[in-house]
Amino acid sequence: MVLASPVSAVAQWRSVILFTVVAATIGQTIHRLVQACAELLEHITELARRDALTGLANRRTWDERFPEEVERASRHALPLAVALLDLDHFKAYNDEHGHQRGDVLLEAMARSWSEMLRTGDLLARWGGEEFALLMPATDVDEAAVVLERLQDATPEGQTFSAGYTVERFHPGFEPDLDQVLRAVDQAMYVAKASGRARSALAVVAAIRLDEPLSAPLAPAPAPG
Ligand code: GH3
Ligand code: MG
Ligand code: MG
Repeated sequence: MVLASPVSAVAQWRSVILFTVVAATIGQTIHRLVQACAELLEHITELARRDALTGLANRRTWDERFPEEVERASRHALPLAVALLDLDHFKAYNDEHGHQRGDVLLEAMARSWSEMLRTGDLLARWGGEEFALLMPATDVDEAAVVLERLQDATPEGQTFSAGYTVERFHPGFEPDLDQVLRAVDQAMYVAKASGRARSALAVVAAIRLDEPLSAPLAPAPAPG
């Protein structure tokens, strides 16, 4: 029979081998493409979470992380420090040195500040020359010390004014986080009005008032 001829058997085997090789190559190519797409997506997602100039977390990341950190702090009954930092007279810096040097300073400052912070802290570019900082498991005295260190670590003698608070959130209670930020923002303006290059403590009653309190409602400001 023709089908049983040795030539046709060889041809059939060739076809089988060729098909296997082509299928394996296509499979590998698809696998590599899928992997490359996943890496690209991860990269794009990471870019979307960061500020393009400073590489810090952006506002979007802050909006995600802030409630998560509040939830974590309340679950573990730990204090959470929240601060807003605004560079002093930065317009004057730009006017004197140019906007590009201003950008370079913002980058250098973000690097310098990041080196001073712990892995679990979150420093985000809030917008323009304003930054937001979350420090989990940090009490009032510690928060004041960190802000002082950041002041010292700010390049070129540049200074900032900051408002901050340290909150203890009760489990099961959803605090108004905008209210917390508003109070911190107001404290930042108090720091500005008191002469800049300093930090002011905001007093926020973000805790549930019908809970028996084991700690003072609002922490006392550090002396000086
Ligand atoms: P104050 O102490 O009252 O905060 O004074 P200020 O000059 O820092 O505040 P103001 O709001 O008047 O000006 C903010 C300045 O920050 C003006 C703006 O050009 C500058 N700025 C904001 N974003 C950037 C940026 O991405 N790069 C640079 N170089 N400058 C920026
Ligand atoms: Mg500002
Ligand atoms: Mg400013």
